[in-house]
Amino acid sequence: MESTQYEYTEAYAHYMDRNDPLNHFKERFYHPKVNGIPAIYLCGNSLGLQPKNVIDHLQKELINWADMAVDGHFHGEDPWYGARMKSKPILAHIVGAKEHEVVAMNNLTSNLHFLLVSFYQPTEKKFKIITEGGAFPSDMYTLETQVRFHGYDPKEAIIEIYPRDGEHTLRTEDILAHISAHQEDLALVMMAGLQYYTGQVFDMESITKAGQEAGAYVGFDLAHAAGNAPLNLHDWGVDFAAWCSYKYLNSGPGNISGIFVHEKHADNPYLPRFAGWWGHDEKERFKMERGFKPMYGADGWQLANTNILALAAHQAALELFGEAGMAKLRKKSELLTGYLEFLIKQTNSDVLEIITPENPKERGCQLSLLVHKGGKEVFDEFYMHGIVGDWRHPNVIRVAPTPLYNSFMDVYNFAKILEQALNKFV
Ligand SMILES: *Cc1c(COP(=O)(O)O)cnc(C)c1O
Repeated sequence: MESTQYEYTEAYAHYMDRNDPLNHFKERFYHPKVNGIPAIYLCGNSLGLQPKNVIDHLQKELINWADMAVDGHFHGEDPWYGARMKSKPILAHIVGAKEHEVVAMNNLTSNLHFLLVSFYQPTEKKFKIITEGGAFPSDMYTLETQVRFHGYDPKEAIIEIYPRDGEHTLRTEDILAHISAHQEDLALVMMAGLQYYTGQVFDMESITKAGQEAGAYVGFDLAHAAGNAPLNLHDWGVDFAAWCSYKYLNSGPGNISGIFVHEKHADNPYLPRFAGWWGHDEKERFKMERGFKPMYGADGWQLANTNILALAAHQAALELFGEAGMAKLRKKSELLTGYLEFLIKQTNSDVLEIITPENPKERGCQLSLLVHKGGKEVFDEFYMHGIVGDWRHPNVIRVAPTPLYNSFMDVYNFAKILEQALNKFV
């Protein structure tokens, strides 16, 4: 697995699979079919595959519910009351945090709003937000409506940074320059950790430092980064973050989100929040009295009691990450995506251009391919042959070989189909 002298041969792909210490994880997932043939699934950036252990975890909670009903909250092997605690060590490992800095709750977009209640506190002087241009629509709408909610004009308050002319991704120096140009009026930097369209990983550490030096809070949407890119949220000093669990975290369609709130804010009394009973001091929760006292750390941002069935599927999926470990996953991911890049370049075609950065530090497993000719027909041709990737308007195909359940043979087979398909469009 050390060699990066890639070769475009089946023998090489087999060799890499045989020497891959994570190869056995592939069998621990259900793999879909398209048109009756086993798919080459390269769409973990949109919806991760189902781990086979999910059904056992779900069934266990269904049985607990059947057998114990309301007593399941406090009795049985794993009372629902503390169910969230089990996910914390692995979540903390995945995002580089302390356990009390993370908690699984709600959905991603809901969490972004709740976190912005705390971390977007505009004043007449400092009310602006820096974000990346072309952000995921839910993030755009979140920022737009938060700004309006506080009585400001989104056109004035939201500063979107775009790549330079002729470039597809952002330069860190340009992001930092925008931040320092707005020292006076900046309240918040909130952007993706890994950009969904281009696959670019931003330099979160430098952005955090610059944003905080400008007197702003800094937060990241890690929907595409969690379980994919190396993250060190605690050491980077990031103020807050949120992610979903159904993309690289393989926890099931629409499943529970996760949040990070840095330790420095764990009992910060100056952060406003919208509270619910589940964020209230656990020892006093059932006294049912007035006067909200937040729990220490991320738990204090919880609102409602946890969806136990959702959490069961999430926990099952997280256990695979715990077993594999992020360092090994990342190592394989760099090789696998590097192989994909190598093979695409071998096709030597002017139909497709990779817009994701070449530097492994600036990307996760996804490559975004700009389609210069043939448009969506190229993508449809892929699908006909069993490749599941995804199409993003107006002209990008995203393919994401994930280190947990994709193999070097998957990538090789993809390249073969790609080559055939491209011949139709030259
Ligand atoms: C996938 C994704 C979302 C989806 O939000 P939900 O609340 O889970 O529907 C939001 N933001 C980004 C950046 C995403 O990639």
